[in-house]
Amino acid sequence: MNIHEYQAKALFEKFGIAVPKGAAAKFPEEFDTALSQLPEGTTVVKSQIHAGGRGKGTFKSGFKGGVKLCKSKAEAKEVAGKMLGETLVTVQTGPAGRKVQTVYFTTASSIKKEYYLAILLDRATSRPVIVASTEGGVEIEKVAHETPEKIFKVFIDPAYGLADYQVRELVFKLGLNAAEQKAASKLIRGLYTLFWETDASMVEINPLITTTTDGVEALDAKVSFDDNSLYRHPEIVALRDLNEEDPKEVEASKHALSYIALDGNIACLVNGAGLAMSTMDIIKHFGGNPANFLDVGGGASREQVVAAFKIILTDPKVKGILVNIFGGIMDCNIIANGIVDAVKEVGLKLPLVVRLEGNNVVAGKETLAKSGLTITSGDSMADAAQKIVKLVA
Ligand code: ADP
Ligand code: MG
Repeated sequence: MNIHEYQAKALFEKFGIAVPKGAAAKFPEEFDTALSQLPEGTTVVKSQIHAGGRGKGTFKSGFKGGVKLCKSKAEAKEVAGKMLGETLVTVQTGPAGRKVQTVYFTTASSIKKEYYLAILLDRATSRPVIVASTEGGVEIEKVAHETPEKIFKVFIDPAYGLADYQVRELVFKLGLNAAEQKAASKLIRGLYTLFWETDASMVEINPLITTTTDGVEALDAKVSFDDNSLYRHPEIVALRDLNEEDPKEVEASKHALSYIALDGNIACLVNGAGLAMSTMDIIKHFGGNPANFLDVGGGASREQVVAAFKIILTDPKVKGILVNIFGGIMDCNIIANGIVDAVKEVGLKLPLVVRLEGNNVVAGKETLAKSGLTITSGDSMADAAQKIVKLVA
């Protein structure tokens, strides 16, 4: 789960991480109240979307920059009006962009230098790793590719925690002066505590800055949490913004379905992630393109199958559906009944290919055959994939 920059910065403050003063607004009527919490002077207006690259982004309206430095609060108010409700396109949003539904006003900092700082989980060593660089404010992937020597990594023993010598090593490598080292050490410690205590999977500050008065501040903030640990953090779940998530994925999670939208035109309804992957592979193999990854899980009910069909059909790109079910725990006849109900309920007009195998498959196939619906049966994965690819061509 991801949160917005303004929410991440509120969390930073709780953990003693220095951030510029700021206030968010969701409606134009809230601009004045938000701005009244900040001192008069140079103010930055920041579009709040779950994607980076906002500074260099462009709105569909033609307005340039999702992060804008303004000379006064009055100018900031005007700029916020041009961002709120508009669609911002950045390198991370894709061409469709994202609608800005919250703006964040923040005091402008006097930047001496921009750095990069992040903590994430390194899967190879099963340890948290702090990644820092003297090259901040730019795409870190580019730095890693072009000048890898400018990226420093410190691996942390989770049982011992972050050691003093590791913090020292980092602040030396970043080339900070004595006052900056002190401030940065406090910030790094706070960030590690936040990462650990909130079960974050990633915290990223890009840029981390030194100020002209030797201060150290987080100017940007990105935090992602491990979904599997959300049950123990209700205060974090409360920060979830469903506007930032694909409505089809939100609907799927309500029915305990795993749904991921893709770019193709063949919808896949499958049980089990492994089977989903191989189904997508075989569709590709025969020249087709999957429209989604929909896993109904090991023991899907009739209602879940109906919900799955409804979700699939809200995607206008879908031109055909392939159901590929292996009945291990699952009873094929339950799936077959779910398919028949779903097709009738949604009045399906698109081609549908069903491949059933396993537990109670004979009854399942009979249910489909007796339904009187136009359902194409596939005898194997290859056969079913070839049939659906042909039907959508
Ligand atoms: P993004 O990474 O989405 O482009 P950032 O929050 O990193 O958004 O902002 C982009 C750039 O804008 C930063 O690299 C920094 O140079 C500048 N900036 C952001 N916030 C402030 C601030 N409070 N004061 C001064 N400059 C800022
Ligand atoms: Mg940034």
